[in-house]
Amino acid sequence: MNTEKTHATNLDQQDDLKDFREEFFISNNSIYLDGNSLGLMSKRAEQAVHNVMDSWKAYAIEGWTEGEHPWFYLSENLGRMSASLIGAKPEEVIVTGSTTTNLHQLVSSFFKPKGKKTKIMADELNFPSDIYALKSQLQLHGLDPEEHLIQVKSKDQNTLETKDIIKAMTDDVALIVLPGVLYRSGQILDMETITKEAHKRGILIGFDLCHTIGSIPHHLSDWDVDFAFWCTYKHLNGGPGSVAGLYVNKQHFGNEPGLAGWFSSSKDKQFDMAHTLTPAPDASAYQIGTPHVLSAAPLLGSLELFQEAGMERVRKKSLQLTNYMMELIEAELMDYEFTIANPRDELTRGAHLFLEHQDAARICKALKADGVVPDFRTPNGIRLAPVALYNSFEDVWNSVQILKSIMKEERYKNFENKRGVIA
Ligand SMILES: *Cc1c(COP(=O)(O)O)cnc(C)c1O
Repeated sequence: MNTEKTHATNLDQQDDLKDFREEFFISNNSIYLDGNSLGLMSKRAEQAVHNVMDSWKAYAIEGWTEGEHPWFYLSENLGRMSASLIGAKPEEVIVTGSTTTNLHQLVSSFFKPKGKKTKIMADELNFPSDIYALKSQLQLHGLDPEEHLIQVKSKDQNTLETKDIIKAMTDDVALIVLPGVLYRSGQILDMETITKEAHKRGILIGFDLCHTIGSIPHHLSDWDVDFAFWCTYKHLNGGPGSVAGLYVNKQHFGNEPGLAGWFSSSKDKQFDMAHTLTPAPDASAYQIGTPHVLSAAPLLGSLELFQEAGMERVRKKSLQLTNYMMELIEAELMDYEFTIANPRDELTRGAHLFLEHQDAARICKALKADGVVPDFRTPNGIRLAPVALYNSFEDVWNSVQILKSIMKEERYKNFENKRGVIA
């Protein structure tokens, strides 16, 4: 292991994505390693918002059909731009709603308890919002979540085993919802195998791609996944509260959405104002109301960057960055009782590292005070996300050095070991 700074500089020189850093607003006095919570703003995202504001100014109501990006087709166009990121057909993707509202929409559409099949399967490590949504969906069907929500257990509280997931696919399961990447440990689930096993048992399956879209390539159509949903403010850099996305496999086209509204309509029929819905013939049918145009606008710029970089190149650099960071942590921080709790191997490691330490909360505060932005996950986790499009190998080197000096000089002891309101 070469721990010299010159090695980081060399890696940066060889990096064929290095020019993308110039596309982002990067602070000179901090190192941002939190792109998996809120991605940085790009110049193109900013410009795209200005363009949409200009079309509102210039066209008013006519902006729905006029201007560079007519708003009436914006959700579909952004869906098409997202399709290659997840290996879907363009008409299988729509940009709409939020992660959680899309989950509600998809469970409303795909969960049809019948006979013995009345249960939903999830896992015990997923993000709380997904679990709240699943429980409330069961309640809407008059089913007790205690009995009808199965949560696959983790042996180590950080990762899930494929065989435990398959074992939980009992006869009474109608629907499975799992994350593509676990938000804490960054473990990638084997979506292809899990989907195949679910289908063998007549179970429909969908994935939450919040931490996988923009961080790893997917082949949802080839894997035959039934549905998926994601946010766009993490790895996709769409900005706070940017409009989310969803995917519906084309074999499910033509059905009415569980939660209908006039934007579920086939576009040519929408303004007939009929009281009988003619659903759009594709994923567009899973929209509900008028699109949040201003919160979707940044994606016009940020998705363009992903199209230019390509997911294969993004993934390759991301793995190099996390490999390099793990090696440096092992070489430089071995005296300070950190546990690397993310998966090590490249098949199951997502785009962030997860360190555990009993003083994690105050170590994160000390890092921020020294200009390194990580994020803390209760009770003892530190997530570090070196992002392929805008972080450098030198960022990684510098942050490990800063962390080392914080530990060596015990500067974290100047802070209380408690999380903030947002952590
Ligand atoms: C970030 C995240 C969410 C957030 O849901 P919103 O509706 O966008 O607030 C949900 N689920 C997972 C797994 C996440 O990582």
